[in-house]
Amino acid sequence: MKHHHVGIQRPSRPGASVPVGRGMKRLRPAAALFAAVLLAACASAPERNPVARWEGSPNHSPRWARAIVLHHTAMDSAQGAIRTLQTGNSGGPVSAHYLIGDDGVIHQLVADGEAAWHAGNSRWAGVDELNAWSIGIELDNDGREPFAPAQVDALLVLLEELTVRLRIPRHMVLGHSDIAPTRKDDPSVHFPWKVLADAGFGLWPREPLRPAPPGFDAWVAMRLVGYDLRDPEAALAAFHRRFRGNEARHWLPGDAEILFDLQQQLLALPAQAPAPPAH
Ligand SMILES: [Zn+2]
Repeated sequence: MKHHHVGIQRPSRPGASVPVGRGMKRLRPAAALFAAVLLAACASAPERNPVARWEGSPNHSPRWARAIVLHHTAMDSAQGAIRTLQTGNSGGPVSAHYLIGDDGVIHQLVADGEAAWHAGNSRWAGVDELNAWSIGIELDNDGREPFAPAQVDALLVLLEELTVRLRIPRHMVLGHSDIAPTRKDDPSVHFPWKVLADAGFGLWPREPLRPAPPGFDAWVAMRLVGYDLRDPEAALAAFHRRFRGNEARHWLPGDAEILFDLQQQLLALPAQAPAPPAH
């Protein structure tokens, strides 16, 4: 519900007009407070904490997503995937903000300002729990087939809209496998990351690649790019899935050149985080 705060009474100020006096009356502030908490608990999402006195300030903004995470559904149909995203799978309730059919239709399931449940246990750039700071996009694809051109075109439209409106940095378009390398392999090696990169989304090595200089540490670069290195082989598989179209769990010739270029691109980014979206 988008407008859940509309029509919900502001909880009374705790203790504000309750006389504090002798005997039983001392219990009243606590009782009033308890009632206010119960009242708030009945509402879907209390806007204001009943244990605090609301003063209000105009100087605030919604917390906003800092990344976009792409998935494939590993299912046979968009309608089936929508049903799952409205209920759950064997692991419990799941959702995503968007699902794009292979016909290019963009379905929305969760508002951008809310956390959808798509990432699970995850880490990127040293920060856990990407559900709290990302937009999740599911692509109707069974994981073994190429991604439909109409679907990729629609994804590019959606990425443009989201990154502009929500001011999400364009390089922060990630795969589920990037942020949960020990558990996830989506989107698959068939996903056209190069097409996204050509449109300016996601980090991608620039041709022609130059040799990495002496002393270059590829693991440090992996960490800088964002990978969680607690399971190094899984991280390498995710890196290769994303950048090389294979799932090798060991270093390959050419990896250092790619990582050196990605590192140079990241180091050249402005240090300042972009401002939150105006509204
Ligand atoms: Zn996924």
